[in-house]
Amino acid sequence: MSNARRLIAPFLRQLGGDPLGLGRAAQSVRSEHLQARTKTADKVVQSVCPYCAVGCGQKVYVKDEKVIQIEGDPDSPISRGRLCPKGAASENLVNSPMRETRVKYRAPGTADWTYISLEQATDMIADRVIRARQDTWEEETEDGQPLKRTLGIHFLGGATLDSEENYLIKKFFTAMGALSIENQARI
Ligand code: SF4
Repeated sequence: MSNARRLIAPFLRQLGGDPLGLGRAAQSVRSEHLQARTKTADKVVQSVCPYCAVGCGQKVYVKDEKVIQIEGDPDSPISRGRLCPKGAASENLVNSPMRETRVKYRAPGTADWTYISLEQATDMIADRVIRARQDTWEEETEDGQPLKRTLGIHFLGGATLDSEENYLIKKFFTAMGALSIENQARI
């Protein structure tokens, strides 16, 4: 509402197309100039909230290749545009200055964390998976029936994994002989 229009009596303002006084007739100068945080986005990407097993749909607003806002996705049949307070604050997960973007490692028996490279962490995980599989492999039962399994490796996926990722994870861990393969979104 311009300053000139504010001088007009409220009743007369309502006659200008807002008979119930619920729209522009009641709008302040400040609210007239407000605009949605999402308005300046270059693109919108559909995603899934990473926090819990409900798996609410999200729209991620991007500007200059940076996430500027995350809102509920009305097209999601699960959440129909809604997000709980945690999901509604997802933008913080991406942009918080406290977000850890490096791999932290605390060696057994120590109290302090150190930073290691992603390559080193990946190698360490691979070494442990191979060793755990070797150490816990069960070839057959006591009476000679084939088992070919390990009970020493378990996998728990997160709600943000999509169907294709879960498919590959299931294939990979089953091929290694693991039985305990689960996803947070199913628990
Ligand atoms: S928005 Fe809330 S309820 Fe929905 S998936 Fe995220 S944490 Fe769960």
